[in-house]
Amino acid sequence: MTEAFTLHRPAGEALPLVLDSPHSGELYPDDFDHAPPREVVRQAEDTHVARLYGRAPALGAALLEAHFPRAYIDANRSLADIDTELLADPWSEPLAPGRKTAQGIGLVWRLARDGRPMYGRRLAAAELAARIDRWYRPYHAALDAELDRLHRAYGAVWLLDCHSMPAVGDERSDDPGRERADFVLGDRDGTTCAPEFTAFVAATLGGMGYRVAVNDPYKGVEIVRRHGRPAERRHSLQVEVKRTLYMDEATLVPNEGYARLEADLARLVAAVGTHVRGRLAG
Ligand SMILES: [Zn+2]
Repeated sequence: MTEAFTLHRPAGEALPLVLDSPHSGELYPDDFDHAPPREVVRQAEDTHVARLYGRAPALGAALLEAHFPRAYIDANRSLADIDTELLADPWSEPLAPGRKTAQGIGLVWRLARDGRPMYGRRLAAAELAARIDRWYRPYHAALDAELDRLHRAYGAVWLLDCHSMPAVGDERSDDPGRERADFVLGDRDGTTCAPEFTAFVAATLGGMGYRVAVNDPYKGVEIVRRHGRPAERRHSLQVEVKRTLYMDEATLVPNEGYARLEADLARLVAAVGTHVRGRLAG
């Protein structure tokens, strides 16, 4: 049976630093039953992101990689973010559908990236419950456990929640038609990590020649909200990288920029590791 995730732990010296890639899963479960062609559904993925950060464990950071596809169940949404229009029968748990759900991209996506309905039928509530239990909960349990373990051991922990984004906002985004920066950092307006941490990551990427935006258009969603409590020395930052820096957005095939980005992300993780060591010593 396929695992929901792989947790790549450092082989040598470890740091209280975790990276997670919730949206790069490529294992499409047989019961997905999506209506549009697979290549359309795959436009929801942050394809290659876990691989791009693959050197992180050698640098002392743990890397948690989801295997399930984001469009099937989205690990960066809350369990209450459910679109009842998707369901054939009532949902017994609390509901708090947000703006993303209204746009068709809640916990389970109702629409594909191109706006086509994801399903030719309504889903049974039991199907949704099974997706949550089989894929979503194990991923979150692994992330919770790793962060708690490191926080207990070191008294502080840092999380980089790793994503990729289309180069230009589509009509359902907050910035339709606008070309994005190379990286967008999201700390939910300074609430999920120490402001100096966001500034450090921005400056490190800026020093490599990248254009960096903060909280525009992505402020960070459920994972950084859930794990970011800077007063408890739990720092969480969402990192979005522009897909055209490393792949063809239509075919998902790595482009000539992939190797450079991979090397720069290793430099970023190494720099963050140095920052973390300094904060532990301080
Ligand atoms: Zn993502």
